[in-house]
Amino acid sequence: MTNNEFEKSIAIFGSTGSIGTQSIEVARRHNLKVKALTSRGNIELLEEQIREFSPETCAVLDEKKANELKGRVSDTSTRIIGGEKAIEELAYSVKCDMLLNSIIGKAGLRPTLAAIESGKNIALANKETLVTAGEIVMKKAREKGVSILPVDSEHCAIFQCLEGYPSKQVSRLILTASGGPFFGKKRDELQNITPEMALAHPTWSMGQKITIDSATLMNKGFEVIEACHLFDIDVDRVDVVVHRESIIHSMVEYIDNAVLAQLGVPDMRTCIQYAITYPDRYEGLQERLDLAKLGKMTFAEADKETFVLLDLAYKSMRMGGVIPAVLNGANEEAVYLFLNKKISFCDIMDMVSEVVLNYKNIVNPTVEDIEQADRNAREAVRILSQR
Ligand code: MG
Repeated sequence: MTNNEFEKSIAIFGSTGSIGTQSIEVARRHNLKVKALTSRGNIELLEEQIREFSPETCAVLDEKKANELKGRVSDTSTRIIGGEKAIEELAYSVKCDMLLNSIIGKAGLRPTLAAIESGKNIALANKETLVTAGEIVMKKAREKGVSILPVDSEHCAIFQCLEGYPSKQVSRLILTASGGPFFGKKRDELQNITPEMALAHPTWSMGQKITIDSATLMNKGFEVIEACHLFDIDVDRVDVVVHRESIIHSMVEYIDNAVLAQLGVPDMRTCIQYAITYPDRYEGLQERLDLAKLGKMTFAEADKETFVLLDLAYKSMRMGGVIPAVLNGANEEAVYLFLNKKISFCDIMDMVSEVVLNYKNIVNPTVEDIEQADRNAREAVRILSQR
């Protein structure tokens, strides 16, 4: 198939972030019709994107910045709107084949729900959507007949390895983890880690929040939870193995013990593109994999004793209810405090654990319960940080 045969219109939510800008590259490469864009407040980049793609609508979270952008692009036909509610409403009203949600953090949940409500398929890069409200989101998607296509590399890999086999033949999912910058270190070696050290040289090109989450293995924990919801599998049938080279993006083991893996050079654009073009494949933007040059691949057990947040994610998923949302909210706050040098690297792990393990759970929560739990968890971390 040649590229110009591909015709799909998309909306990119969170278009100025790391996944957002890589999605823009995919859109450019395949001449996609971009119907809507959103950003927290990076109006310089939004202006460029508006001039390149002429979307119908562009929403900015920061209302002051939205007004400023309105002035800057008054010579274009793009409608500019501002505020949290506007982003949620746009997710519902925009007419397109697919909404790519790469908003960072819990702010991505409402737009995902609105898009599902309107019957649009979703390419999901915002993990918090499934971590905090996986049951509600997947149930709604089933009711509306909407597909949720994973953009995360691990889930994209599993999604590909599951193609064509009934779920009852799956024995377990094996998520690969790069191990982060502090792989092999023990607790006492993690005491003096600074944000700069944690942010240096990630294998994948990602934003700051997720880079810290990769360093604590919280990110891998979130991915375990995400996998349970996306593929409707029990948490105890999802394993994690450290694979430093990040060439195998994840695996599926079947009941006959055959293991299928998906490989490639680490590049998020592959996953973004596959989510958009599924079930078809098109020429990719990433480098080809040269196995001989790679030479070897290594594997190791994940150290759940040092990196307690990975284990805490398993516990949270088993507890269910609002606990995964508490885990997410507490972690988001703790990472923010760490990046602002208010708490230490080990504090992230300790404070999140303390908040999660002492939280009074609510079973079968509503979206409002989940949002309240999120706020409570953040507040609890702030209080701990002031001790
Ligand atoms: Mg990932």
